[in-house]
Amino acid sequence: MPSYCELCGGSTQGLKTVIIDGSIFNVCLSCSKRGKPYQPPIPKKQISNQPPKKQISNQPSTKKPFQKPTNLKFNKIEFFDDNVLKSDFADIIHNARLKKGYTQEYVANKINEKVTLFKKIETGGLKPNEIISKKLERFLGIQLYERLIEDDDEV
Ligand SMILES: [Zn+2]
Repeated sequence: MPSYCELCGGSTQGLKTVIIDGSIFNVCLSCSKRGKPYQPPIPKKQISNQPPKKQISNQPSTKKPFQKPTNLKFNKIEFFDDNVLKSDFADIIHNARLKKGYTQEYVANKINEKVTLFKKIETGGLKPNEIISKKLERFLGIQLYERLIEDDDEV
């Protein structure tokens, strides 16, 4: 594609861009000597290395406003004492005593309780308190208390 000098109109290879009288001309090599070399302004590259915008978290907050727990029930306390006196404690004591061949007086003396009290217990007329029960359990080798809660041993 031939190029033509804007000054002399001659065909030329390799136009020179010059400034002549403040105007830009594409001229031939000979005509370029009449002007000043034109330095095209270097287009400023768009600086694209801007720091990435910080992701502003606009996500709706999942935090719920603090609420006082109102449904806390301490059911556990109901099971604090999960050992209950066996209903047949009297028979257990009576049978254990007979097995050992102890008299009521002997047992009562050993557990440091009155015989009348022990008789009432052995006949079921009186429930032994925990201390007496423990003494009887230890002395007679019996168990008067049983766990109220069964262990979860489902097979
Ligand atoms: Zn020319």
